[in-house]
Amino acid sequence: MGGRRGFYSNLLTDSDYLARWKAKCDIKPNGCWVWLGFKFMGRGVTDPFKGYAAASYRGKNGRLGRYIVAMKIGRPLEKYEVACHHCDNPPCINPDHLFCGTQKENGLDARAKKRYWYQRITKCKRGHEFDEENTQRDSRGFRHCRACLRYLARLRAGWSEEEALAIEKIPAGVKTERRTYMRAPRTGGSP
Ligand SMILES: [Zn+2]
Ligand SMILES: [Zn+2]
Repeated sequence: MGGRRGFYSNLLTDSDYLARWKAKCDIKPNGCWVWLGFKFMGRGVTDPFKGYAAASYRGKNGRLGRYIVAMKIGRPLEKYEVACHHCDNPPCINPDHLFCGTQKENGLDARAKKRYWYQRITKCKRGHEFDEENTQRDSRGFRHCRACLRYLARLRAGWSEEEALAIEKIPAGVKTERRTYMRAPRTGGSP
């Protein structure tokens, strides 16, 4: 009956707030609490399901992630600090998935995740294994598939596609008919 919102909000503890917010979430099997309420759209975000959770807390309206991180660390966030997600899921507000970072760390974190994603790829796009023997690294650390490099070199040398794929790696120093044959057109020796 009447009363100002601010007055009642002062009676709520942080765990009351958390319980209320959790009740407005879709709890996912991976532990994410996906906010179903109003969302802020981040820069470049057009999908309404990828926005950041927004709600009021102690008379203020703002980003829920920031409020929850502030609760975790026991002080408000500085301007340069951001609420980061371990789970990469912007609308998630599970306190265990959030941590306090700086803008810079957030970028580093994204890069580390990208590196992790890259390392999880264990095969080249033609399905060859990136194992010790078949992997060649360039100066930037990127991996190249030796089997594919060989295949492409053979195509450039005039082999047919079937031959290039079918013939196994020729060990160094071994003379083969194929190599002799390959040299012939270049010298123009065949009648
Ligand atoms: Zn999450
Ligand atoms: Zn390959």
